[in-house]
Amino acid sequence: MLSSINPSTGELIREYPETSALEQENLLRAAAAAFRQWKLSSFEERSERLLAARQVLLAKKEKLARLMTQEMGKPIVQARTEIEKCALGCEFYARNGAKFLAPEEVATDARRSYVSFEPLGVVLAVMPWNFPFWQVFRFAAPALMAGNAALLKHASNVCGSALEIEAVFREAGFPKDLFRVLLIESGEVAALIARPEIRAVTLTGSNRAGESVGAAAGKALKKTVLELGGSDPYVILADADVEHAVQVTVQSRLTNSGQSCIAAKRFIVVPEVREAFERGVVERMKLASCGDPMLESTQVGPLARLDLREGLHRQVRESVAAGARLILGGEIPSGPGAFYPPTVLSEVKPGMPAYDEEIFGPVAAIIPVKDEEAAIAVANDTSFGLGAAVFTRDLARGEKIAKERIEAGSCFVNALVKSDPRLPFGGIKASGYGRELSAFGIREFVNIKTVCVR
Ligand code: NAP
Repeated sequence: MLSSINPSTGELIREYPETSALEQENLLRAAAAAFRQWKLSSFEERSERLLAARQVLLAKKEKLARLMTQEMGKPIVQARTEIEKCALGCEFYARNGAKFLAPEEVATDARRSYVSFEPLGVVLAVMPWNFPFWQVFRFAAPALMAGNAALLKHASNVCGSALEIEAVFREAGFPKDLFRVLLIESGEVAALIARPEIRAVTLTGSNRAGESVGAAAGKALKKTVLELGGSDPYVILADADVEHAVQVTVQSRLTNSGQSCIAAKRFIVVPEVREAFERGVVERMKLASCGDPMLESTQVGPLARLDLREGLHRQVRESVAAGARLILGGEIPSGPGAFYPPTVLSEVKPGMPAYDEEIFGPVAAIIPVKDEEAAIAVANDTSFGLGAAVFTRDLARGEKIAKERIEAGSCFVNALVKSDPRLPFGGIKASGYGRELSAFGIREFVNIKTVCVR
């Protein structure tokens, strides 16, 4: 039995019986059969279905947002925005998918030679709870538009959201078995990957899950896209607009109660701005309204599960024990729920969890450095490489640092790192490989096929 537990109250929302071995077998076969039909459909037909999915999402926005907030504690205002973003993702691929997958003619000595983008088959998607709708839609919209089928193994604490996503596609008129949910534990994923019906795998989640899924897919020789953790550095240079940097970095750190792969996690400051930045961050973090995520005014809700709060608190305690200065928060509040207060650590150094590990919660780690070169070195001194940002009034210098010096999948200047359907999203190093979104994302799960006619 899988359970959804409300992280604000600790109360059980609902239990879900797991998908049995026989049901899994039937779903695999049915998805493979649905794929054989769907791959013959036209782009116009697929586009119509995605536009219908957009409509269903918007019509059910309030219901879906409330479910998400109940299941994983996301502030309700952000949950609504997430549903809107899913609708946008569907629309984006409905309008651009055919263009992204149009055959590419190549001049050779053949009469005609070209590259054609053909769907692969049933893709297994293993997804996390932190953006329970968006993570799924940003994979599913392009994958279905490309002509694939999908089976979703969602995080065990958001089964309700998983089943609602399945319902969205069904209500939008997609073939019944083209997108289905498997309610299973993570231990069953490796065996599924080995199944011949599964042609490729995508995982968004932790590095531990990435290693395990990557190994299973490697053994079965299946294509993978891995979107894993991050410890994004935000570098604040001497000529930065400190007020703006404070506003953006705190917003990034607190979004989704700090549980975002591309949140600002390490705040790297040079001496000229250190004091003002540190003061500003503490003041702003203090102002954040924390509590019941169903309230419109709440900016920071609970963490998604009690065990995640324990892990976060351990990271804070161990960082402080190793010499970090705790300047805000850091105490577990009394009462029910998985709440954790906005917390600021300064003097963060190598060897501390706040420096070395991903911090998945509302905890800012300030790392003072001696100059710009040291700031860039510290930004890159991580096993991760997902996002990064640089703050400076010198836009040309900022752009040069962003493009040439920082090792990350995305680097923004004077702005919050966020995903956008028009731009590729993904990481390097231990943050994974492959790309989602844009034309790059829709080409991950296709057979890039050479066709030559003599
Ligand atoms: P997680 O524990 O790795 O879970 C993610 C998914 O993987 C869940 O469906 C989980 O199932 C499954 N899973 C866990 N261990 C597995 C294993 N050994 N084999 C197969 N499947 C496994 O991650 P999370 O706590 O839900 O999410 C937070 C992590 O995701 C963070 O590290 C965050 O940075 C990362 N993330 C990355 C991105 C990105 O785009 N790069 C986006 C969002 C989140 P169960 O729930 O049943 O365990």
